[in-house]
Amino acid sequence: NINFTQRINVFKYHSRGYSSATPNTHSRPRVVVLGSGWSSIFFVKHLNPKQFDLTVVSPRNYFTFTPLLPKIMSGMANTITASEPFLTFMKKRFKDNSTFVHANCVDVDTKSNSVTCAPVDGANTLFSINYDYLVIGVGSKTNSFGIRGVEKYAFFLKEVEHAEKVFQRVLDNFSAASMPFVSDEERRRLLHFVVVGGGPTGVESAGELSVLMNDYLSKVYPELRQFVKVSIVEGGKRLLPTLRAESSEYVSRVFDRNNVNMCFGKVVCEVKEHSCVLKELATGQTEEIGCGLVLWASGLKETELVSKLQKKLNMPENSRALLVDQYLRLQGTDNVFCLGDCCRLAPTRLSDNLEAVLNATGSPTLEALLKNRPKLARDFPQVRRTKWKFKEEKFKSAVAEIMAKSEREAGGGGAGGETRETFLEILKHIDNTYTPPFPTAQNAKQEAIYLAKMFNNGSLLGGGIAKAGFGEHWKGTLASLGGYRVVMNSPFVNLNGGLLPFFFWNSIYLILFTSCKMRALFIVDLVMSFFTSRHIIS
Ligand code: FAD
Ligand code: MG
Ligand code: MG
Ligand code: MG
Ligand code: MG
Repeated sequence: NINFTQRINVFKYHSRGYSSATPNTHSRPRVVVLGSGWSSIFFVKHLNPKQFDLTVVSPRNYFTFTPLLPKIMSGMANTITASEPFLTFMKKRFKDNSTFVHANCVDVDTKSNSVTCAPVDGANTLFSINYDYLVIGVGSKTNSFGIRGVEKYAFFLKEVEHAEKVFQRVLDNFSAASMPFVSDEERRRLLHFVVVGGGPTGVESAGELSVLMNDYLSKVYPELRQFVKVSIVEGGKRLLPTLRAESSEYVSRVFDRNNVNMCFGKVVCEVKEHSCVLKELATGQTEEIGCGLVLWASGLKETELVSKLQKKLNMPENSRALLVDQYLRLQGTDNVFCLGDCCRLAPTRLSDNLEAVLNATGSPTLEALLKNRPKLARDFPQVRRTKWKFKEEKFKSAVAEIMAKSEREAGGGGAGGETRETFLEILKHIDNTYTPPFPTAQNAKQEAIYLAKMFNNGSLLGGGIAKAGFGEHWKGTLASLGGYRVVMNSPFVNLNGGLLPFFFWNSIYLILFTSCKMRALFIVDLVMSFFTSRHIIS
């Protein structure tokens, strides 16, 4: 058994104890939260207001329910439905011991325990806020991969303003194309909408756009129907690569039927004002296609604050996010934690803690490791059932290779076998094949609830460690293709289309919404979409 003192030894750098350079004059520890997105709102929702004073700093004074953005972008949902004023939300639980600071955090000083902020209106008066505990949940940015013209001409979909802008552009292009003096060629260009990226955001956007075109705009502008085209560009071989192959096939069938032009094995290598350049990956051949809108839904990138902190803490720059340990604590700090898209879990390595592992397993064998897995998994998430797939061929062949190598080195004749060295190699393999939680709202929420609970029970305060590290539970993935078509992968069932996943999609969001206002408005949006047409104003 790893007892508490041993565990403290394992994570030496946490046992330094916590010392704040700025003495706290409050009776309660002061928690400063950066950001007002998924992770922040659920952290605030679960943190005990009786134990902490709270300050939230964000340039956006509302929470955005991002899964609704593709619906807003196509006029199916209202912007108010998808946003929650943060101050109102926070004040429901934290009465007079909370503050919302409408500002950008521009720097974090982990030595003096303070953050530097800049007001959102661009005024260059910087001010600082001290914290006892800092929770960073600043999310990520869309990655343009430095491709020419993307920042200037492409549209993004990360915020409600983005969704509104795309919808306006679509409507404006229809108005422009309906003018009597416009040539057919120009009409074709104006009404060609290109979505870049075959992940969930790209697929949902292309789906919503195609339904908007087919079911609505083509009826309002019947004479323009022949010019309309929606394209989706994906470098890989299938859409929704993280979902099951059947779901990708279903999406392809639906898109085929809805006249979505799917370009596989291609990437966009330049975006211009009225066109974009496609490159075929296999041949390197390029072609320029005219279009009226490029929606960039491809990849994530760290925010400026995150890259600044990475440099300060000497973290590898190629990791998109801040590295945290299994307790979501920023590496190299005692009292700074990170949540959501801006963090990447890099648990304490098994191979760096051989003694502690041997303490738990008793002997350096795979069998002992397996037997003691539940116990070890509390401190080392890489051996959790969902992470270490010991039954898979990949793992088996890696072990076989390690054994063969040790056999060769021992001079053959069965002299190798399971030794401390081979055990260490196996641990290294498990460490190296660990995949951190994906940057999704689902995981951001789970991380936030975990951290709030650990704050409430005091285990992570003062540099301590928790009873168990964070491990995500995948509850399923849903993607709406517009209209009633939804694909759903979950640990129990996989459904492609039909009423059941559509029902799930709606009910899950009804549960996930952060307020009754959102729920009521969502139902109104849904009901109204049956009875009235979309709200077209441009
Ligand atoms: P965010 O929610 O992005 O919040 C970041 C917050 O930090 C924002 O309030 C921002 O204003 C603030 N901020 C930024 N910089 C600073 C700074 N310097 N100082 C202070 N504050 C700052 N995930 C799912 O699981 N399911 C889905 O169906 C799904 N659909 C999606 C659809 C779309 C269109 C998009 C874009 C994303 C979707 N996601 C989905 C992913 C999900 O939105 C993210 O994983 C989630 O938002 C991450 O939460 P977060 O708190 O880390 O960041
Ligand atoms: Mg956040
Ligand atoms: Mg958000
Ligand atoms: Mg984000
Ligand atoms: Mg008017």
